[in-house]
Amino acid sequence: MSAHEQMKAMLDQLMGTTRNGESDRHGVKFYDEAVCKSFLLQCCPHEILSSTRMDLGECPKIHDLALRADYELASKTKDYFYDIDATEHLEAFIADCDRRTTAAKQRLAETQEELSAEVTEKANAVHELAEQIGQKLARAEALGEEGMVEESMKLMGEIDELRKKKAVAEQEYRNSMPASSYQQQKLRVCEVCSAYLGIHDNDRRLADHFGGKLHLGFITIREKLAELQKTVDKRREERGASERERGGERRHYVGGRELDRRARRHRESTRERDRDRDRDRDRERDRDRDRDRDRERERDRKTRTRSRSRSRGDRDRDRDRERSRNRDRERERERDGRRSRSLRSSSRERRRD
Ligand SMILES: [Zn+2]
Ligand SMILES: [Zn+2]
Repeated sequence: MSAHEQMKAMLDQLMGTTRNGESDRHGVKFYDEAVCKSFLLQCCPHEILSSTRMDLGECPKIHDLALRADYELASKTKDYFYDIDATEHLEAFIADCDRRTTAAKQRLAETQEELSAEVTEKANAVHELAEQIGQKLARAEALGEEGMVEESMKLMGEIDELRKKKAVAEQEYRNSMPASSYQQQKLRVCEVCSAYLGIHDNDRRLADHFGGKLHLGFITIREKLAELQKTVDKRREERGASERERGGERRHYVGGRELDRRARRHRESTRERDRDRDRDRDRERDRDRDRDRDRERERDRKTRTRSRSRSRGDRDRDRDRERSRNRDRERERERDGRRSRSLRSSSRERRRD
């Protein structure tokens, strides 16, 4: 993000859409159907997982820091129940991810050499210890970076213990099969983020996984969902009661699709309005430029008239000054490029008569 963009984001965050006196920049309000409610609550997976291996691309709904600021302000005095929308969104997202985990496990079961129950148990013991080591190592590194050296050292001590246990588990696993089979990488699917982990992955690699943006992003999403799920039933009841109180027809008569349609129509008409406004502004700017040029020409004429009555030396100096001014103007025109070329020729014609 450039410094300018950063500044803009910061102002949006602080002041919402009313910044610069714009009443509705997108023609959209934060409560429109087209706005991502999870984003307003800072838990949209599209945002959390952006620029990871699982980047979901842009969210189909609108993300805008200014709208979030509007919502945060408005939600102080009114309950919008967006936590319910966010719960439903995250539930669908996590269900999808868990389906992927199941499919990945299925694929592994089909492609990896099948192990006996006994060996599987031994392999799992290795995997579990490796994961604990990776997680603690990532955590210890994070603590170290935050300057919490003591806590970090304590974790490193625990990691040493786990490494000893893992060495024993690995030995048992190795002894349970022929050497050639042991060499093969046995994969396992991470239950949190559905990435593949190998039984022979070293601590470094595992720490990178468990401390990486993808895995941590999934933890954030899962924790947020768990938190939302705790209250969602109660919140649904509350929303129902509040709707009954208000008459509640609106929510029942206007479906999601209709709201989408309305938001789209609204957006389009705003876009058109913006375009018209831009065109008007361009036209005005052209007019201003013409007026400036006319004024300048007028001024030049006056100077010339005035200088005629002065001494020869003054006149020479004036001429020099004018020549350099003309040179500047010429340079400026060059910069303006093609579009001013036609203007220049027409002004030359006028100058001739
Ligand atoms: Zn979103
Ligand atoms: Zn993971």
